[in-house]
Amino acid sequence: MATEKNNLIRQIRAKGIKSGRVLDAMRKVDRISFVPQEQKAVAYADAPLPIGFGQTISQPYIVALMSEMLNVRHGEKVLEIGTGSGYQFAVLKELTPHVYGVELKKELADPAVKYLRNAGYRDINIKLGDGYEGWEEHAPFDKIIVTAAAVHAPPPLIKQLECGGRMVLPLGGRDEVQYLTVLTKDGRGRISEEKTDPVRFVPMLGRAQEKKK
Ligand code: SAH
Repeated sequence: MATEKNNLIRQIRAKGIKSGRVLDAMRKVDRISFVPQEQKAVAYADAPLPIGFGQTISQPYIVALMSEMLNVRHGEKVLEIGTGSGYQFAVLKELTPHVYGVELKKELADPAVKYLRNAGYRDINIKLGDGYEGWEEHAPFDKIIVTAAAVHAPPPLIKQLECGGRMVLPLGGRDEVQYLTVLTKDGRGRISEEKTDPVRFVPMLGRAQEKKK
């Protein structure tokens, strides 16, 4: 297992992840703890894997890439939308203690909390609900990461982002190429968006499906 995990970290580095903090976090989190029994044999493949209910655990390189783009500093408050398996959540917990997650499906949120507890994490703040709405009572967030694709950044999330904060999210429709997008809010609350790498995420369900721009 140690060899497979080392190989995975090597692949992630070879694909361009440079942040020492992110690489350390990726080393600390055992992906095998976040996949269902039938996926344990391939847990350290750098590929997305099915976790049931039509959902996937993200590709480790993409988890590392989005974490690097977020540039989380210790002590910052981070919101993750689409917590799914809890894998990205665990990587974020290695970067700052203040992580909040919103997941739509109870069938995924329950095991995620269990996996995170078994992996030794404490203060696991995961809420069941539509992540389109964010998590108002803990706002503002220094960083927001969305791990399901929508056609536009949900306005409630933009509102809950701290001035000087940053959001990383895949933008694009079901049959379109999605792009990882870095949205920043400057000190005066002005928003700018930068489109980066093409990616493929499952669609954001719930309210994101109703509003088409
Ligand atoms: N972050 C996960 C990736 C999960 S895949 C990981 O580390 O592996 C995307 C997740 O988004 C799924 O669990 C799906 O149930 C969830 N999701 C989809 N639409 C959502 C919404 N509107 N609000 C919250 N979660 C949502």
